Amino acid sequence: MAFGHRRSLLPVFFLCCLRICYTEHEQDSDVNCHQSSASTYTFVKHAVQAPAVSYYDYIIVGGGTAGCPLAATLSEKYSVLLLERGGSPYGNRNITELAYFSQNLADTSPASPSQRFLSEDGVINARARVLGGGSCLNAGFYTRASPEYVRDVGWDGALVNQSYQWVEKMVAFEPPMLQWQSAVRDGLLEAGITPDNGFTYDHMYGTKIGGTIFDRDGHRHTAADLLQYANPDGLMVLLHATVGRILFRQTGGAARPVAHGVVFHDAAGVRHRAYLNNGAKNEIVVCAGAVGSPQLLMLSGVGPRDHLESLAIEVVVDQPMVGQSMSDNPMNAIFVPSPTPVEVSLIQVVGITRFGSFIEGASGSNFASHYSQISRELRFGMFSAQTGQIFTINDMNDLPAASSSMRGGFILEKIMGPLSTGHLDLKNKNPDDNPSVTFNYFKEPEDLQRCVKGIETIEKVIQSKAFSRFRFQYISTEELLRMALNFPMNLLPKHDNASKSLEQFCKDTVMTIWHYHGGCQVGQVVDKDYKVVGVDALRVVDGSTFNFSPGTNPQATVMMLGRYMGIKIQTERRETDDEAERKS
Ligand SMILES: Cc1cc2nc3c(=O)[nH]c(=O)nc-3n(C[C@H](O)[C@H](O)[C@H](O)COP(=O)(O)OP(=O)(O)OC[C@H]3O[C@@H](n4cnc5c(N)ncnc54)[C@H](O)[C@@H]3O)c2cc1C
Repeated sequence: MAFGHRRSLLPVFFLCCLRICYTEHEQDSDVNCHQSSASTYTFVKHAVQAPAVSYYDYIIVGGGTAGCPLAATLSEKYSVLLLERGGSPYGNRNITELAYFSQNLADTSPASPSQRFLSEDGVINARARVLGGGSCLNAGFYTRASPEYVRDVGWDGALVNQSYQWVEKMVAFEPPMLQWQSAVRDGLLEAGITPDNGFTYDHMYGTKIGGTIFDRDGHRHTAADLLQYANPDGLMVLLHATVGRILFRQTGGAARPVAHGVVFHDAAGVRHRAYLNNGAKNEIVVCAGAVGSPQLLMLSGVGPRDHLESLAIEVVVDQPMVGQSMSDNPMNAIFVPSPTPVEVSLIQVVGITRFGSFIEGASGSNFASHYSQISRELRFGMFSAQTGQIFTINDMNDLPAASSSMRGGFILEKIMGPLSTGHLDLKNKNPDDNPSVTFNYFKEPEDLQRCVKGIETIEKVIQSKAFSRFRFQYISTEELLRMALNFPMNLLPKHDNASKSLEQFCKDTVMTIWHYHGGCQVGQVVDKDYKVVGVDALRVVDGSTFNFSPGTNPQATVMMLGRYMGIKIQTERRETDDEAERKS
């Protein structure tokens, strides 16, 4: 019995109650932020209050999109420690309110819930640093993986469905369909992306309205809200707890190293250790995301020998595939200024084509701060103030000053897969720093062809009858492409022919849709049960394990996977316990 063990008593500070909607961010003082019922969690503490040493049945590293549902599920029967390097999402309007979506991505301060990184490809990207992970930063679109995807990865379909439903009960909603999003949907249908599948979470060819984690009032519900399912007596969540290393032991005669603890530091830089309780089935589960998980494995000595030795990291297991097969689905967009006002919307509609491109759109959001208020390094991509400027166009010859909000929207395409892959390497031994990441966008010609077909489809949507009231008739699509090329989407050089050659347009305007994955893939770094190959008592459960991005957008499946693996681990453990009891 997990709690009966001498060392399994949860630390005394567990009993202290935390008011979670505290102010970590300056803007909170003057804003009425949304506080969900999750704001009454009693099991969330700052790591500075943690003891030097503690013991649990499960230690989960990363309180993100997969880590939260996994922790909630395992806490039903076992003592669980969830370590998250970021702070709380509650009380931060940039997270809780739809209209402030872009603000986190433009916040490059060390306290930001979004840690910016620049891939070696020259594309600006972001990784989460907050309880709830990417679900606190993202555009909210909620849509399941296809049944074929579920079958191909070998998941149990019935348990997958139950796990999706468990997530959906708490955080998924049907979006309000206002005029601009309706025009995109109707334009997609006119462009031949049929049939009209109405509102559904399911992945089907054609055009559909998907789910969203924003409710009807524009309040975000995140993976952190799934902790409402947790057993408060079984869970301890520590915030601002950055894990620097997983500890292994290999006692005489043991065939493989066994993970048995972690070292983490709190916000004051003080180091703490957490160990697994005695018990062969207790485990450490890494849920640190597609950048954080391969990074942490390498920092802990699990990775390519030569690379680890070049940084004087002691090798626990030579695992050449850690950090390999990193992928990021390229995103390309056309910005469309509108003569009429548009609603503020993030992703609500998707066109799922048969040629491997997904078409989505967002509109009228406060994507750009006032130009004069932001520093040069913050002007990039669709969050550039130049984007705000273009959306205030009334007359092409009379460009008004940049506005704080844009009139219009952008229609984007993400390619399926992708087939192109890259790699992740450590730059140093600091877990707070970004590693170096290369995605090799469009290295595979098929990825480029998918992009070209996607842009052609977007052009048809823009030219459709349904969309006509949201575009200036006198601005040609070639002119729109030229405008897009003038935005600082990325740090790549632009080519003169890019508004005429869609191949060049795709390459020159490539952005991320933040669905990067890989680095600890199933079949390479972890086995089909998500156990790290070559060591014991260690799993990885998050987006780093995917070979391809699931569905049109991954978060539904990442949350589902956290729940799914929690149930699987419990079941596996119960079956072996029953077996042992029968034998005794
Ligand atoms: C801007 C943006 C928009 C997006 N839009 C959508 C969308 O509309 N729909 C959709 O489906 N998907 C979207 N996504 C993608 C989706 O959110 C991610 O794929 C998903 O959240 C990844 O989940 P994860 O569990 O793998 O990682 P994460 O959710 O990032 O969780 C990893 C967690 O681990 C923590 N961590 C990392 N290292 C350590 C360490 N050493 N110690 C302690 N903690 C650590 C991190 O702080 C983080 O909280 C978007 C993502 C972004 C960033």
